[in-house]
Amino acid sequence: MRLAEVVGHGALTSRLRRAAATDRPAAAYVFAGLPGVGKRTVADAFAMELLCATPGPEGACGACAQCVRVAAGTHPDVLAVARAAGRERFHFVGESLGGTVGLLLASRRPDALLSVTASNASHRGGSIQRAPEWREFIRTRGMAAWAEMMTPLRLDRERVSAAKWRWFERTQTEASSESVLALADVLMGTDLTPELGRIRVPTLLLAPGQSPFVPLTVMEEMHAAIPGSELKVFADARHGLPCSHGAACGRTLRDFHDRRIPSGA
Ligand SMILES: [Zn+2]
Repeated sequence: MRLAEVVGHGALTSRLRRAAATDRPAAAYVFAGLPGVGKRTVADAFAMELLCATPGPEGACGACAQCVRVAAGTHPDVLAVARAAGRERFHFVGESLGGTVGLLLASRRPDALLSVTASNASHRGGSIQRAPEWREFIRTRGMAAWAEMMTPLRLDRERVSAAKWRWFERTQTEASSESVLALADVLMGTDLTPELGRIRVPTLLLAPGQSPFVPLTVMEEMHAAIPGSELKVFADARHGLPCSHGAACGRTLRDFHDRRIPSGA
C-alpha cells in the first residue's frame, strides 16, 4: 500500500511523506502502538515511499519495480526479522547498539521475547567513551582512517586471524559515515536506567573485560539492575567480543538457554 492510500494516521503519513520527499529522513523510526493499529502497514508504506524509483506528486508510484517488490514483501532491503522467521516470540541476541535495542525490547515488549542476550552493550549512552570525537575524526580523516583507528580497539591482533582482522577493517571502511554517526547519536542519547528493573525476560550479559567504549563497571551495573540476569565476563576481550571470542560466546549462550528456557521454546 502507498502512504497516500493509508486510511487514518493523517498527520503521521503526511509527516512521513514530507520526510521522504526531502531526501533527508532520520536514521531510524520507531512505530509504537497497540496491536492492530497499522504499524506494519505504515512502515511498509514508508519503505515504499523511500525506495520508489519514479515518485510523483502523490509520492510513491506503486507501480515501479521497487514499489512492486516492497508490496510483494520481496524487496531485499525490507526485512521483517521475527515475522519472516515465522515466530511470534524469539530469542534476541544483539551486540553493542544491538544489545541496547534488545534491552529496550525486553522492557517494552516482553511478550515478544523468549530471552535477551546483550554483548558489549551499554544502557547509558552518556557512559560510552570516545564516540563524541568520531564526527570530527571522520570529517577530517575519512572512514578508512577511522576503521584503522577502531579495529585495534575492537580486536586483539594476537588473538584473531589476519583474515578476520582485514574483514573487520574493510567492513568498517565501507560503512556509511552518516549511518555510523547517526547510530552513535542515537546511542549517546539513550538512557535505559529506569527500564532495567522492569525486565523479566531471561537476560544474559556478555561483557568484554577490556572494551575502550563500554567499561566493565557499566555492564556490572546493568547486571545488578536486571532481576535474575546473568553476567559472563571475558577478561581478555576488547569491544569486538562476539568476533574475537565467537565460539566461547556461543557456548555461553547455549548453556544459558539450556538452563533458563523451558524445553520446546
Ligand atoms: Zn514506485
